[in-house]
Amino acid sequence: MFLDFIWYTACSFIRIFQNMTPSPTIQNTLAKITNAFHGMGKKNDILMQGVSPADISAPIQMKMGNVAMELDNIFSKALSLGASDIHIEPDEDTLLLRIRVDGRFMEYGRFPNSEKAPLIAKIKILSSLKIDEQRLPQDGKATYHDAASGKNVDLRVSIIPTIYGEKVVIRLLRKESELMDLRSIGVLPMNMVKIKKHLENQFGLVLIVGPTGSGKSTTLYSMLSRFDPEEKNISTLEDPVEYRIKGVNHTQINPQIGFNFADGLRSLLRQDPDVIMVGEIRDSETARLAVEASITGHLVFSTIHANSTVNTLQRLTNLGIDPLLITSSLRLIVSQRLARKLCPHCKVAYKPDESIKKKVLSRIGKYVSDPDELMFYHALEGGCEKCGHKGHKGRTGFFEILEMTEGIEKLVLSHASKTQLEIQAVGDGMITIKDDALIKVVLGEVSLEEVLQVLGG
Ligand SMILES: [Zn+2]
Repeated sequence: MFLDFIWYTACSFIRIFQNMTPSPTIQNTLAKITNAFHGMGKKNDILMQGVSPADISAPIQMKMGNVAMELDNIFSKALSLGASDIHIEPDEDTLLLRIRVDGRFMEYGRFPNSEKAPLIAKIKILSSLKIDEQRLPQDGKATYHDAASGKNVDLRVSIIPTIYGEKVVIRLLRKESELMDLRSIGVLPMNMVKIKKHLENQFGLVLIVGPTGSGKSTTLYSMLSRFDPEEKNISTLEDPVEYRIKGVNHTQINPQIGFNFADGLRSLLRQDPDVIMVGEIRDSETARLAVEASITGHLVFSTIHANSTVNTLQRLTNLGIDPLLITSSLRLIVSQRLARKLCPHCKVAYKPDESIKKKVLSRIGKYVSDPDELMFYHALEGGCEKCGHKGHKGRTGFFEILEMTEGIEKLVLSHASKTQLEIQAVGDGMITIKDDALIKVVLGEVSLEEVLQVLGG
């Protein structure tokens, strides 16, 4: 079955290139691949067990003709810039290649539409997808070896048909952990104290919330990496596994075969874990299991789609969790957004307008030691060499951290409004996400324009 699939893939690939009159280099490589696949008789089945199609095809494919070289260039360029994903988008007559760095698109290049078929075929082979299928969406994965860093990178490939052909998005997941500590992802010292306190608990639920691409996974992994795997049984359920932490049991869930977060969590609980990370709470059953686990001696971390810390409380209620269970399980909600950091080498200082200064000080005055000397910064247009002429370099998080205090408990149990919850949380010491962002403006890490863009007026 498995060999049939490889053979089918190879044949489809060859058919596509035959139709296109391939260059001698490609023909030569195709001959090598054909021989390689011919060499695999059925008696070699045992040898192939546990080897994914991607493992076989990746090293061969990478050396192929110009299309492969171009793809290699794209990956190298994207990785050297610290990109998170690559987008290959066809339109009527061109093929646009863009890479996303720090949340913003950079154009890699535009190619004639004739490049589309071989490039997408190449990506499909690399990620073990059906080459002949061009009408339905497909998801695949592969591993890429980045020669520059010597590290392996997991590629998550998603293909979806558009009216101009297939659009491909490749997510780059660095295998080797490049974990950052909580401070370096933008957690302020006063918030660090809250997080540390709750990480010392033996049980409870910690939720990270925010839209897609707000850095929730990075925060989760930064928290997980604070535990000693030799002292704790740490297990995760993820989709996909984005980083690997030594000593942590990472499990990839697979909804396509019916292995979802809820199934995984039920099985995991039989393995006596101390710390559990559930990639995402999407449904009532997972929410209920996560809550139950967190009140029966486990420290559970997860993410949930919600706009703010206070909204999360309502979201849990909407998922059918009894308010009493919410108050007895939930310890901490971290809401976050990502923003571009100013390049420290070329940022430009300026004295803020008096009215703006007054507004800012009315919110975060207690954190500013010398209000008269208050300076803001903005990005230098055209940047410098060190930031690739962008004026920004790297990203930081804006955070809002809500603790389950006695006051919040009472309000949750009495079904209080969002406003009441917010007032109570701030009274209990919560720094709102807007204030967290403004503190970073005063610290010179981000511009006021960026805060307005990320959080709105
Ligand atoms: Zn710069």
